[in-house]
Amino acid sequence: MTSSSVESLFNVLDETALILQEELSITYLEAIAETAENLFQDGILQDELSDISKKRITKKYQEVNLEKFHTEEIRKAYQLSILKGMKENVQQNHQMTPDSIGLMMSYLIGKFLSEHRSFSVLDPAVGTGNLLSTIINGLSPKEISAIGIDVDDLLIKLAFSGANLQKQQVQFFNQDSLEALFVDPVNAVVCDLPVGYYPNDIRASEYELGLKSGHSYAHHLFIEQSVQHTLPGGYLFFLIPNGLFSSQYSEQLHTYLQKHVHIQGVLQLPLSMFKSEQTAKSILIMQKKAEGVKPPKQILLVDLPKLSNHQAMENILVKIDQWFKEYK
Ligand code: SAM
Repeated sequence: MTSSSVESLFNVLDETALILQEELSITYLEAIAETAENLFQDGILQDELSDISKKRITKKYQEVNLEKFHTEEIRKAYQLSILKGMKENVQQNHQMTPDSIGLMMSYLIGKFLSEHRSFSVLDPAVGTGNLLSTIINGLSPKEISAIGIDVDDLLIKLAFSGANLQKQQVQFFNQDSLEALFVDPVNAVVCDLPVGYYPNDIRASEYELGLKSGHSYAHHLFIEQSVQHTLPGGYLFFLIPNGLFSSQYSEQLHTYLQKHVHIQGVLQLPLSMFKSEQTAKSILIMQKKAEGVKPPKQILLVDLPKLSNHQAMENILVKIDQWFKEYK
């Protein structure tokens, strides 16, 4: 992968999005999704554009040949353009999952599902798709059939166009993931959990973790919904707030998890990645209970170093390997 390829593709996405944004009076992020879809379809889908803009955009598209790019180069260029758009205005809960977390999750999924040559993955809060795409690319050449769901129609459009550009097999659904899902149970769920309250109390009360009165925690319901849609013996990889097990209602969560899953590991991300200790996160790994599936002899507990600290990272990967041999 070269930074100049990433930069050249980013420039094409950026410059063509600016033309679309201006002429169609849409946001930069909407324009990024449009231009990505144009590139994938190898044409200009916005009929209302003036001929001069169509010519300028076509000329830009001719500067790049997608076939010559590595999938990771495409993902990075696309991610850069989304990050630029998100600088304008984005809610905390909509932020893209950083690469370092995606890479770590991808590594862990590869280890826990090492016996599968092909498997299914669900991300019920897929957002821009960056986490899911990083995971799929990282697990190549395994055959992965993926499902991504998000309630936000712009984010899911970005995820859809990004998956097309990267030629990834993903089915997308634009809906509230805490409503009924019409998808088959999967081998693995991955999710950067949206943290906060779920406004639909009636629907929430149908969950074991839903409160009988008042708003329930969306992140607790997301965990329950994910467990529901995991195959027996399948795995769940969540990005969780560090305070998950010490916050209000964590006792109910504990009881629920004890009943349905075996906790496999908790990997705390370096505090330097976050604005404050309160916003710091960890990766929680669980396996859904099934006949013949035993809990690990010991839970994998790791304090992850900065990914840029190669030596410390190598030591941690050795520790994780050791855990698989001795305790899994
Ligand atoms: N992993 C994503 C990425 O790389 O872009 C980021 C996920 S972001 C932290 C959380 C996502 O949860 C947001 O995209 C938000 O729209 C979505 N979300 C929040 N509540 C939801 C719900 N009830 N159903 C579906 N998606 C929801």
